[in-house]
Amino acid sequence: MNRSFAARAALLAAFVSLVVFSLQTQDASAQSGNLQEIAPGVWFRLGERDMGHCNNTIIEMEDYLVVIDANFPSGASRVIDDIKAVSSKPVKYVFDTHHHGDHLYGNPLWREAGATTLAYHTVLQEIARYEPQGWRNASSTRPDVAELGLETAEPPMEVFQEIPYVIEDDTRRIELHFFGWAHTRGDGFAFLPNEKILVTGDAIANGPFNFMGHANIGNWPNVIERAKSLEFETVLPGHGPAGGREIPEGQQAFMREIHAAVSSAASEGKKLEDIVEMEDGRPAGTSVELSPAVQNWVGGNFPLQVQFTYEEISEGRPHGEILGGK
Ligand SMILES: [Zn+2]
Repeated sequence: MNRSFAARAALLAAFVSLVVFSLQTQDASAQSGNLQEIAPGVWFRLGERDMGHCNNTIIEMEDYLVVIDANFPSGASRVIDDIKAVSSKPVKYVFDTHHHGDHLYGNPLWREAGATTLAYHTVLQEIARYEPQGWRNASSTRPDVAELGLETAEPPMEVFQEIPYVIEDDTRRIELHFFGWAHTRGDGFAFLPNEKILVTGDAIANGPFNFMGHANIGNWPNVIERAKSLEFETVLPGHGPAGGREIPEGQQAFMREIHAAVSSAASEGKKLEDIVEMEDGRPAGTSVELSPAVQNWVGGNFPLQVQFTYEEISEGRPHGEILGGK
């Protein structure tokens, strides 16, 4: 080995160890256990899909924390544990983005931990429509819900009507928004204007996770359009990984496409059984096809989504009115 080769080899080794070190430190700062640091003091937690958990966002204020979504009880326990790795501040507010069990049934755990659960006021109306039936159904399949020994879902302790509802101190501003009926009649968003982060609940999902039973499918793209007027760069969805503005763009395109495709089938006089194939009383296949651009949102529930869209269009009223009444 001549001297210049040895010098170059040593230089290369130093360079490689520097790269490895910087990758490791980058990883360490971005990920604390299950929490991914999106911006200083803002963490995103991807929910466990096999347990039905939603995603959570944890936001640090000067003296306390704000958590977006209560999750199921088992999810709430995990979030409460995970938070200990990043902050010793108490959780003061938990924002329920809507009434669904995977976003709200953990409310009793957060209250017991000293937090105030909070939602847009229409979430109470959705709870009145769908409970206690939803709670009973969940109790029959989920030990974490049954173990609480309650008769029904615990509503948010506080609701607000004026939007945006602002949580603010010297270090940060959080705006809670409502843009209309999309996934449910209570779809709340959390917006961090300084960090340009939008937390969307289930009005915007990143993947084939859209449940349309309680939705206003035709109005859903309009709600996303209003949300898009906010100046954000990062999107933290209710389900699926974090990303950027391509998530609301894609979700909106998916909603428009499914509505247009089913509308045109209906206007050609097609019946539900002409476009959705049933197996054991459940939708198992569909002839409706959407463009390659929105395939991220097309999955196993697509035939059911087509069915709900068809029912909304053929009955001329939002699907949530069909399932939940006025
Ligand atoms: Zn939901």
